[in-house]
Amino acid sequence: QTGTPLLELQNVHTYYGQIEALKGLDMTVHEGEIVALIGGNGAGKTTTLRTISGMMKPKVGSVTYQGQNVTGVPSHTIMQRGIAHVPEGRRIFPQLTVRENLEVGAFTVTDRRLIQERVNEGFALFPRLKERETQLGGTMSGGEQQMLAIARALMVAPKLLLLDEPSMGLSPLFVEAIFDIVEKLNKERGTTILLVEQNASMALAIAHRAYVLQTGEIKLSGAAQDIARDESVRKAYLGED
Ligand code: ATP
Repeated sequence: QTGTPLLELQNVHTYYGQIEALKGLDMTVHEGEIVALIGGNGAGKTTTLRTISGMMKPKVGSVTYQGQNVTGVPSHTIMQRGIAHVPEGRRIFPQLTVRENLEVGAFTVTDRRLIQERVNEGFALFPRLKERETQLGGTMSGGEQQMLAIARALMVAPKLLLLDEPSMGLSPLFVEAIFDIVEKLNKERGTTILLVEQNASMALAIAHRAYVLQTGEIKLSGAAQDIARDESVRKAYLGED
């Protein structure tokens, strides 16, 4: 890979009070890539995404996006610059309909026509949401809510999409549907994706590159297919012995 990375983390240390959750993270994401971030419980995956999207500020180190230092820039500004974050546990608005959830997601977009265009794009990508346009978000199944959460994030047409455990708690069919959409977004729209997953084997199957995180540090990184073949990764994260 050549040229300026889309995203670069350098020596990032992020804390919760006294707890050092990220201990000097270095990471790069290039435009057009799907990068998987894998690791066990408490490794710091969610904290990494929070640090990128401006929800948390690192005590030390820098986050650079499109060549600009965005360390400590508030999350709404980060979003306006093209980074969308779909947090763990799909936080949709339960009392709003599917369509309203999408419209609210476009809060940084002022052009009504553009909003409608994006709603329609979301429905094209997720026909299941179109069928449920007037249903309340809270009455949708877990998998449907995850689709809605992703579709809502896409309303700002992000350049970089941060996905936190999109497959969590979903049945195998939904997991496959979600991963298909992630690949499609990347291939057809050129959306760059940073994917946090416990489901390491599926994440590595669609990712170009991967980072393995362990207790706040990068343990291993490289081409996703090499990571998937790595013996220590197979034992620790792919359920082999
Ligand atoms: P999981 O897969 O279990 O969600 P993760 O890799 O996403 O894990 P993080 O959620 O980033 O891990 O957590 C990293 C470390 O920071 C953990 O030790 C965790 O206990 C701690 N931590 C996370 N959130 C908080 C918080 N709000 N307050 C204090 N400590 C926290």
